[in-house]
Amino acid sequence: MSINYQLTTANYQKVHGLVVRNTGYSYTVKSDAGEVFDCKVKGNFRIRGIRTTNPVAIGDRVTFTPYEQQTLPSPSLQGGSGISANEETNEQGNHPLPVGRVRGGSGLITAIDDRKNYIIRKSTNLSKQSHIIAANVDMCFLIITIQQPETPLQFIDRFLASAEAYSVPVTLVFNKIDLIDDEWKDYLDGVINLYETIGYPCRRISALTGEGVEELRAELQGRITLLSGNSGVGKSTLINTLFPHLHLRTSDISDAYNTGKHTTTFSEMYEVGNGGYIIDTPGIKGFGTFNMKKEEVSHYFKEIFHFSADCRFNNCTHTHEPHCAVREAVERHDIAESRYNSYLSMLEDENEDKYRPAY
Ligand code: GDP
Ligand code: ZN
Repeated sequence: MSINYQLTTANYQKVHGLVVRNTGYSYTVKSDAGEVFDCKVKGNFRIRGIRTTNPVAIGDRVTFTPYEQQTLPSPSLQGGSGISANEETNEQGNHPLPVGRVRGGSGLITAIDDRKNYIIRKSTNLSKQSHIIAANVDMCFLIITIQQPETPLQFIDRFLASAEAYSVPVTLVFNKIDLIDDEWKDYLDGVINLYETIGYPCRRISALTGEGVEELRAELQGRITLLSGNSGVGKSTLINTLFPHLHLRTSDISDAYNTGKHTTTFSEMYEVGNGGYIIDTPGIKGFGTFNMKKEEVSHYFKEIFHFSADCRFNNCTHTHEPHCAVREAVERHDIAESRYNSYLSMLEDENEDKYRPAY
C-alpha cells in the first residue's frame, strides 16, 4: 500500500512501529525501538474494498516517516550505533539512521503492513462506512458471569462463532466465582464442561478477590488480547486488579462512548509486558459478522462442523434435510441443544441477509 506523498526532506528515514492509540485526530505509534510518535495519515488507503472512516486502527503495524524529531541525528552516526530497529533504506537509497537516536516526535504514516485480522463495526448511519476497531488481535478473553448479570449462552455462542470467522482464539473467563453458591455451582460446571468439550479453554476467576487473576496475567504476555463481555461482568475491575498502576479511566471513556460523539474514534491498547497489549474498548462487545454465507455459518460452530461431514447433502443446512448427521447428533446429545439453537438463530440472521452485530 502506498500513498501520494512526496518526501520533502531528503534524509528522513522510514520507521516501523505499532499503532497503540487512536484519538480520532492522530495515531500514537510505538516504534520497534520503543519510542512514541504522534502520527497522522496522509493519502487514501484502500483496504480490501471496505470503505472505512479510519484507514489505520490500533494494532496496525505501520511504516512512518518522522518529521519532527527532537534530536536530529548527525550524518556521522549513520549505521554506526549498532541499533538496528530499521533495516530499510529511505527513498533516496541512503542507509537508515539509527532509530535509537530519535527521541520521538511527530510523523506521517505512509504504509500499513498486511493485517492478520481486524475487528470492524459498521457505522450506524446510512453512509455504509465501517470503522475498524482494532487490527492484528492475537486472542480474546470473553468475560462471562453466570449470575449478576447472567450471560446468555446464545451471546457466548454468537461471540465464539464470529471470533472463529476471524480466526481469533477465545478463552472463556468465568468471573465472579466468589458469588457462586451450591445451587449455581452445578450449572457453572455444566457450562464449563460444555465449552471445554468443544475445545474452548475456560478459566474461573474473581476479579474482586484476585482468585485466578495471576494465571491470566501470564497468558497476556507478548500478545494483543481483546477483552470482551457484556457490561457489568467485571472488565474494568479485572483490568484494575491486573494493572493497578495503569490507573485506567475506564468509566470516563465509557461516558465518552455514551455521549455518542466519540463512539467511533477513540481507542487505545494498554501495554501489559513483553510486548503484550490489552484492548479494552467500551461499547465494543464483539466482532460484527459480515456477509457470512448461509453454508458458512456451521463452519464456525466447531462441533457442528465436525458432525456435518456425515450429512448426506454437501450443502445441508442442518434444518430440515433428510439424513442430517448434525440433527442426529443433537438428538443423541452429542451436540448441545443450546449450541444448535444458537446456530439456528445465526442462520436466521443470514436468511434475512443483513448485518447483525454478533451479540
Ligand atoms: P464492566 O462493565 O464489565 O467493566 O464491569 P465492572 O468492572 O464495572 O463491574 C461491575 C460490578 O461487578 C461492580 O460492582 C464490581 O465491583 C462487580 N464485580 C466485578 N468483578 C467481581 C467479582 O469477581 N466478584 C464480585 N462479587 N463482584 C465483582
Ligand atoms: Zn446436516
